[in-house]
Amino acid sequence: MKPLGPVTRLIVHHSASSLNTTVEQIRRWHVDQNGWSEVGYHFVILRGGTISKGRPLPYQGAHAKGSNSNSIGVCLVGDNTTESDGWTPAQVASLHRLWDSVQVIFPGIEIFGHRDVSGGTECPGLDVRALILGPNASKPQTLEV
Ligand SMILES: [Zn+2]
Repeated sequence: MKPLGPVTRLIVHHSASSLNTTVEQIRRWHVDQNGWSEVGYHFVILRGGTISKGRPLPYQGAHAKGSNSNSIGVCLVGDNTTESDGWTPAQVASLHRLWDSVQVIFPGIEIFGHRDVSGGTECPGLDVRALILGPNASKPQTLEV
């Protein structure tokens, strides 16, 4: 695994998978099926709000094409493109806590949804910046990747 460069972004994903998906399940998909060396995400937030550790933070993740070298990847189990499987309040609260923590560790870090940095994906199915920063959060326009 390559070392992670200077961290400037937290990139947020949804799993679009079964609601009882665990980090161990995602590890099996990414390691056993994709042949990667570890889970692609640094953190996975389960439906109850538990934050599970994935790939160790010193290493680049594999979660957002073009942005892996300088970002932390977090995946919240669920599917925001559906009515029934959207994120739970407990997950959103945990994402807020994670966001608070990474801002302490990486001053100046910004938060984005996967779709804000990589074209061609709906992930995570909603506007993460509005969700976490509030409705007046600036919309990402043209991001350098
Ligand atoms: Zn994604």
